[in-house]
Amino acid sequence: MSMDHSEYDFIEIEERWQKVWADKRAFEVREDPAKPKYYLLEMYPYPSGRIHMGHVRNYSIGDVIGRFKTMRGFNVLHPIGWDALGMPAENAAIKHGIHPQTWTLDNIDHMKVQLQRLGIAYDWSREVNTCLPEYYKWNQWIFLKLFERGMAYRKKSWVNWCPQCRTVLANEQAAGGECWRCASPVEQKKMDHWFLKITDYAEELLSGHAQLRKWPEHVLLMQKNWIGKSRGAYVDFAVPELGRSIRVFTTRIDTIYGATFLVLSPEHPLNRDLIAGDKEAHLQEWVAGAIAESRLRRDLGDVKGRAFGSPLARGFYPRASTAEADPQTKPGAPAAVEKEGIDTGRTAINPFTGERIPIWIANYVLMEYGTGAIMAVPAHDERDFEFAKKYGLDIREVIEPEQSVAETGGAGQLFVDHGLVKNSGPWSGLRSEEAMERMAAFAKDKGFGEASTTFRLRDWGISRQRYWGAPIPVVYCDKCGIQGVPYEDLPVRIPHDAEFTGEAGSPLEKVAAFVNATCPKCGGKARRETDTMDTFIDSSWYFFRYASPKEERLPFARAAADYWMPVDLYIGGVEHAILHLIYARFFTKVLRDLGLSALDEPFPHYLAQGMVTKDGSAMSKSRGNVVDPDEMINAYGADALRLFILFAAPPEKEFAWNEDGIEGAYRFIGRVRQTFEGIRGMSRTSGEAVLDPDSAARLRKKMHQTIKKVGEDIEKRFHLNTAISSIMEFTNTLRREKDVLKGSAEGRALLREAAGDLVLLLSPFTPHVCEEMWKTLGGEGLVFHAPWPDFDPLLAREEKATIVVEINGKIRDKFEADLGVPEDEMKAQALGLPRIRALVGDRPVRKVVCIQNKIVNIVL
Ligand SMILES: [Zn+2]
Ligand SMILES: [Zn+2]
Repeated sequence: MSMDHSEYDFIEIEERWQKVWADKRAFEVREDPAKPKYYLLEMYPYPSGRIHMGHVRNYSIGDVIGRFKTMRGFNVLHPIGWDALGMPAENAAIKHGIHPQTWTLDNIDHMKVQLQRLGIAYDWSREVNTCLPEYYKWNQWIFLKLFERGMAYRKKSWVNWCPQCRTVLANEQAAGGECWRCASPVEQKKMDHWFLKITDYAEELLSGHAQLRKWPEHVLLMQKNWIGKSRGAYVDFAVPELGRSIRVFTTRIDTIYGATFLVLSPEHPLNRDLIAGDKEAHLQEWVAGAIAESRLRRDLGDVKGRAFGSPLARGFYPRASTAEADPQTKPGAPAAVEKEGIDTGRTAINPFTGERIPIWIANYVLMEYGTGAIMAVPAHDERDFEFAKKYGLDIREVIEPEQSVAETGGAGQLFVDHGLVKNSGPWSGLRSEEAMERMAAFAKDKGFGEASTTFRLRDWGISRQRYWGAPIPVVYCDKCGIQGVPYEDLPVRIPHDAEFTGEAGSPLEKVAAFVNATCPKCGGKARRETDTMDTFIDSSWYFFRYASPKEERLPFARAAADYWMPVDLYIGGVEHAILHLIYARFFTKVLRDLGLSALDEPFPHYLAQGMVTKDGSAMSKSRGNVVDPDEMINAYGADALRLFILFAAPPEKEFAWNEDGIEGAYRFIGRVRQTFEGIRGMSRTSGEAVLDPDSAARLRKKMHQTIKKVGEDIEKRFHLNTAISSIMEFTNTLRREKDVLKGSAEGRALLREAAGDLVLLLSPFTPHVCEEMWKTLGGEGLVFHAPWPDFDPLLAREEKATIVVEINGKIRDKFEADLGVPEDEMKAQALGLPRIRALVGDRPVRKVVCIQNKIVNIVL
């Protein structure tokens, strides 16, 4: 970089203004009922040690919106904190012998300086740090409240185990059979484990989506898939030889006449009896082998539970078909395992047909979903079809398409949709929907089944065998059993002295002073729980804590939370769609039901920011394509870095780093300063020419249009990139008209006004240099507190185009629209015209063809 930075000493300017902001506590806010509030939040960082470009992007997007809202008169809460508990700190302790606390707090100190160098307008007085006892005490408090209500419970169960991280993972953290943190294949372990009853809220987590209209559609779909609600029915298939029956769950009872075999999960409790007495030991062996196989690998979208595919592996549709493209496919996920099964040699009776069908055990059925047993209908389910083909089992068609065969792709094909029931005794001829309802009612009547709803969502496993986490506040007494730690004894602190060897088990187990406790009930000896909480608990409610970070009696003060919550705009990566964003919604509902808040949903508006890439892939250490923000700030300044990162792509799109871009941003700031200085220096030139009215009109028009456009781009669409382009255009106009206008006193006044507006418009993007210019201009106070400029709607009006509306090629109407109106808007406006609506009537619109600024042709 051989640039001459002498004319613009950004290092000095930026440091000086950061100090002014800090000294004046410019970004601190208080509850003020007289002002409209705006709570802006970016997902808080993990203190890994360094800020990366993804952070810079995330926080810069938020900062522009926060600064803009402040200028628009809102009381803006924009806090930051640290997601400071978790594994990397412990790994650092094992590897380098640094205490996790030292490592974490040092990293926070360093990253805080980095964030301050970016000039983000955070209210640092509200900083939250989850590794401090004054924070995690409230995790424990909330846990105890749930424990009292039976919503936190302990159970022996199969859990996901990451051998690399040596800890348990929640299902959400092991999706696709890989550890969410280190990508190791996840194993299964049976152990005692604490769970939170998130399933109690399954229905509400789903129905709450109605309040989340400002969330990206695909995030809602991922959550919906993860919650996985299925309406269906239970049906019991008798096995007379055992005097037992096998209960299956099916979403397609209408296909039961096509059930040609049953399939049980390898973990199914009846397997033992089914196999018992059988001479073939290989049956037992086969089952043991299938169980050992990772349950999560088996869950790769091809498992039948039924119809509960992994939402990450493919979209969830109750009648999934492989033809459906899936936008959520996780790149690099291991392929689904081959379907394997074994015939038990037993049969069960189909209660509808009275017919005996074989019972199989297979790896594509999971114990966790439904009942762990399914009826296989190979003619109408692709997984069963594949399995039946492989093992030569019967395929019997019982549903036919309602439309003609030509439209559905021909007879003899696997048909998974609803249709008309056939070959099904008295039910033949019914439509699937009606058959399902009537057949479930019949089953209930006869006592061998009933209609039911199931969810894919499981309770949240929160036990972690780690040191650097919030201790679960219970003790075990031989006499009294599990006892919650009394509230007045909270927090249960993480003991400082522990050994970090990296060997199996939690370091806490070996700290006698921690483990040895007193039973709060009988006063006898008790053993303290050594499991700590999943750190996702910390992030499930931290946004409430910012409202009153110093509150000592409760997790947060009700009045402050009532004022600030909900978060008006939440910005962060989409990788949290089903982890953090489901847990935080769950906790918000729990806190409401504990009477701490009245809120149903914490984040009515969620903006998922896109990835930062370089040379075609995500920035990552392993790829060696990481660009260090500090180096960029040293070379070009924080203002240039922010401006470039915001200019290069709209927030939700991928952003590709390139060094030329930041250099361009740097040059633009230089040009603005030069223009600005030129205008400021004008008073010394005392030209007394007459004002050029055309030039003045051009500048004035552009000025008002730019104010309007920039405000709308930020506020309505978050199109920060196009807002910056208009500011650039405005700067060019200003430079062009300057030489003409500076000749007259009136022209000079107009130029000064335009220069002032330019500084105001640019200030959310490049705040340091704008504070500097604002001051030299003689502006009052900080530009941060200056009001956003107004525009004159008449002057700001864009040029209009007259657009003709045709139906089937005939002109029917016309309307006015802004020049350059996007096609979607053209279509919507045309279809909304009363005359057009009347002419179209009920007829379906086949397509709409647009020619920009000219014609909309509606084809019926
Ligand atoms: Zn791992
Ligand atoms: Zn006791």
